[in-house]
Amino acid sequence: MSLKRVLVANRGEIAVRVIRACHDEGLAAVAVYSEPDRLAPHVRDADAAVLLGPAPSSESYLDASKLIAAAKDTGCQAIHPGYGFLSERAAFAEACKDAGLIFVGPPASAIRAMGDKTEARRRMQAAGVPVVPGTTTPLRDPIEARKEAKRLGYPVLVKAAAGGGGKGMRLVANDADVEGAFQAARREAQKAFGDGSLYVEKYLERPRHIEIQILADHRGRVVALGERECSIQRRHQKLIEESPSVAVSPALRRRLSEAATAAAGAVGYVSAGTIEFLLTPSGEFYFLEMNTRIQVEHPVTEFVYGVDLVREQLRIAAGQPMRVHGASGPGGQLHPRGHAIECRITAEDPFNDFLPQTGVLQYLRVPSGPGIRWDAGIEAGNDVTLFYDPLLAKLIAWGETREIAIQRMRRALSELVIVGLPTSQPFHLRVMDDAEFLKGEIDIRYLERAGARVLAAPPRAGLERALAVAAAMVADQGHDRPPPSSLTARPPQSNAWTQAARLDALRDGLE
Ligand code: ADP
Repeated sequence: MSLKRVLVANRGEIAVRVIRACHDEGLAAVAVYSEPDRLAPHVRDADAAVLLGPAPSSESYLDASKLIAAAKDTGCQAIHPGYGFLSERAAFAEACKDAGLIFVGPPASAIRAMGDKTEARRRMQAAGVPVVPGTTTPLRDPIEARKEAKRLGYPVLVKAAAGGGGKGMRLVANDADVEGAFQAARREAQKAFGDGSLYVEKYLERPRHIEIQILADHRGRVVALGERECSIQRRHQKLIEESPSVAVSPALRRRLSEAATAAAGAVGYVSAGTIEFLLTPSGEFYFLEMNTRIQVEHPVTEFVYGVDLVREQLRIAAGQPMRVHGASGPGGQLHPRGHAIECRITAEDPFNDFLPQTGVLQYLRVPSGPGIRWDAGIEAGNDVTLFYDPLLAKLIAWGETREIAIQRMRRALSELVIVGLPTSQPFHLRVMDDAEFLKGEIDIRYLERAGARVLAAPPRAGLERALAVAAAMVADQGHDRPPPSSLTARPPQSNAWTQAARLDALRDGLE
């Protein structure tokens, strides 16, 4: 079947990203949207758009039958699921196939094998990939959990076999806490995934989260595109990612890549995927899980390996060989060029425990310049609601060295102006100045240690005052406008050019 038109079954920045890849690949893209997303950039950027239904995901982006019907009705041959929503549901991949559509991703069997973490752990062990010490079959009850925890030695993590997004995970420090943690994790897993199966693994004290990007095509070629360092996390959710990692030498990269390609091979993987590892300070690494989809943080890999991963996904889905040069066969190595960092710009207030924020984005000034990439799913006039993930945009910086990448990120973060609601932007600016971060001394507990220090650091000269002035300006201009509602909000008619120019003049005056 020749691939001409793709349904993009997602929203936000990843929908925009996939639409761009379709267009670069010479394919038409059909967007889908929920009622409050009517004015979202992904709807405008696509060649056609289908309304799915009201805001709740269950009635829109998570409704498999509506998505498949939309693809058929608009003459699409394939569905790209993006990340989140239905991207890791084996049943959805199967339903696409049954409807005669290409699922842009791995075979359902690979999603299923990796989606059950206990099965994944068994398969990885069989393939010779080291896994975090722990159980590989679901726990029967808290008694078995306690027995296994004792054997491993505290602290341990009780984890959901179906886990994702940090849910269904409990840290247990001693015998007395096992029962409570077991019941709480089971309840949470049952609610989030409809599956309360649990396993237990050793809690590693200060590992780094290091993941390997792989691409595999239908011709049996599997390549590894180096690592991403994703240790800067909050509540097990990534905030800043970079590639390469300061902790990974070429020799370690080779070993990680071999383990990752073996992992992918063990489940017959095809398409883009990520194998996550924990790396201990002494250099041992353990398989954590595989994400059988494109990841949020994929652009850092694209920068340093000069690859368009989403275009490759589309090519592979169409049965073509991947276009990644410089490596061949399992374990084939590509080499990183320079350094890239990504900051997730989320609608969360870092000064208020990262509480999710809502509101109309009244004004947006997008950073640019050498080595800067801005992947966004929003623009001025859009309404940010609590219905979906708080990720608004990703800012990615590339430089010949880590220092240059950080310097460019700092500059770009200072150029970025978002008026209308608090975001994670000031947090990122402060991390870029933090001594431990600058030295690359990070692990998954970095924010526990550094969070208070980073957020208490004085703001960069002028910037936050300029933002306050900009906010006041925009609020002033808005006086005679009716308050925008989610369905009527439009990009402000006022002249964005004059606003940006005045803001610059103000900033110069303040510094
Ligand atoms: P999820 O699928 O919910 O994202 P993961 O298993 O990928 O869960 O783990 C998410 C994060 O939780 C990791 O990046 C790491 O920070 C932490 N984590 C998970 N397992 C362990 C472990 N055994 N020891 C220490 N930290 C862990």
